[in-house]
Parts: sequence; structure tokens; C-alpha cells
Amino acid sequence: MTNRLAGKRALVTAAAQGIGESIARAFAAEGAKVVASDIARDKLGELDAVDGIEPVVIDVLDQAAVEAAVRGHGPFDVLVNCAGFVHHGSILECTEEEWDFAFDLNVKSMYRCCRAVIPGMREQGGGSIVNIASIAAHKGLPNRFAYGATKAAVVGLSKAIAADFVGDAIRCNAINPGTVQSPSLDGRINAFEDPDAARAAFIARQPMGRLGRAEEIAAMALYLASDESVFTSGTQMNVDGGMSI
Ligand code: NAD
Repeated sequence: MTNRLAGKRALVTAAAQGIGESIARAFAAEGAKVVASDIARDKLGELDAVDGIEPVVIDVLDQAAVEAAVRGHGPFDVLVNCAGFVHHGSILECTEEEWDFAFDLNVKSMYRCCRAVIPGMREQGGGSIVNIASIAAHKGLPNRFAYGATKAAVVGLSKAIAADFVGDAIRCNAINPGTVQSPSLDGRINAFEDPDAARAAFIARQPMGRLGRAEEIAAMALYLASDESVFTSGTQMNVDGGMSI
């Protein structure tokens, strides 16, 4: 299939690498005009040459910056909230500052972006919001205390938005990825004393016996962004190698 997003304008956060980058590339390949945003200016620059992608630096922790970017580059038909960060540790290793930061980046960023984008979607008769949560929203995973709490909040936020705007043809869905190969996953693995054992343990959590690929999450985001999923809102799609079976 081609041009599944023809005529649509999309904003993707955390698009300089990993899942967000794959989503931006997949959307552009299917005909969308994509504003690919991130704080990593250098890495974002690599997307400059991609047809259909406009890289824009946006810090999703900054309310004024989000609003200005949406005013300047919107309105959008599609918003993908991908920015997120993994805090490692149990409640006993999670300081109040770390808890607050995790919620600011993983949850409040979505509040900021959705609040900025929804009025434009409403005015133009609809839109699709895709929020990247995690299987950690549902499954208790060791040392993912703050992360699991934030991603469960993302699921709740997504359902609430879906309920409030179903009458405006604005859909909101969440994706729960399992463990996906990405630069930040490499960083987490390399932080272990024995990175090979750590990688093997991450793989062992996945019944399919391998890590996910960012393109596999992008394929679900593409479906949820496109009109193929026009009867779908308030759902969560697990793309997790069977972790949730
Ligand atoms: P990543 O962690 O490798 O990259 C994250 C990107 O976010 C970076 O480019 C970074 O510059 C950007 N970023 C950080 N702070 C930002 C800010 N304030 N404003 C804008 N951008 C900012 O990417 P990933 O591992 O593909 O994860 C992407 C999303 O998917 C996250 O929400 C993550 O929680 C979720 N997720 C990832 C996995 C996984 O295994 N990789 C699994 C489940 C869910």
C-alpha cells in the first residue's frame, strides 16, 4: 500500500532516534508532511534530507516552546507523542526529583502536546493522536517503578482524551511496545556490569525470543494514524513480542 497518509500533516516528538525516528520516516514514506521534533539538534539534522520531513527542535518539557511550534507549524491531523525516558530502580531508588522528572517527560509532555494540538484538530474536523506507552504500564517489571507508573498514566490519559473528543472525530490510542532495539536501550544494557548477560535477559523476557524493531512499532503507529483505523479509539495496541500473552 502507498500514500496511506497522503494529505495529512503530522507532528512526531522524540523523532531524532529510535521509535520516533522510525515513525517519522514511515509516515513520510506514506505521503504525510511530518514535523519531526526532538531536542537533539544534530541527530535531527540527519532527517533534513528525507522527503516530507521537516526537522524542528522542540523541547516537550517547555510549554511555551510546544505552543509556539504548534502555532507555527500546525494545524496537525496526526500527533505522535513519543518522548519518554526510563528510570531504573525500585521505589527505594527513586528520589522525588526523579519521580517528578519521569512524570514531566513521560506524561506531562503529552498533556502539553495534546492540549496544543487538539483545538486545531477540532477546527479542521478530526485527527488521530498516538501515544507511546509501554508494556510496563500493565506488567510489573523489576526496577521499572517510576517508568511503569508514568506509562500507566499515559494509558489513562489516552482513554480520557478518546472519551472527551470522540464526538469531534479526534481519536486517541496508545501503543505498548515490548523491549525494542534503540540507542537508549543500548545505553541501558551497557550500564550493566555484564552487558551480554543483560541483553540476554531482556531477550528472554520476550516469548518471541528477540527484541522488537523500531519499524515494527512504526507500522502500528502508521495504522493508528491512518484512516484505516478510523473506527478505533481509546484502545491500546500491544506490540511486544508476546510479553503480554
Ligand atoms: P530513545 O530513548 O532512544 O530516544 C528518545 C529520544 O527522545 C531522543 O532522541 C531524545 O533526544 C528525545 N528527547 C529526550 N528528552 C526530550 C525532550 N525534553 N524533548 C524532546 N525530545 C526529547 O527512544 P526509544 O527507546 O525508541 O523510546 C521512544 C519511546 O518509546 C519512549 O517513550 C519509550 O518510553 C517508549 N518505549 C521504548 C521501548 C524500548 O524498548 N526502546 C519500549 C517501550 C516503550
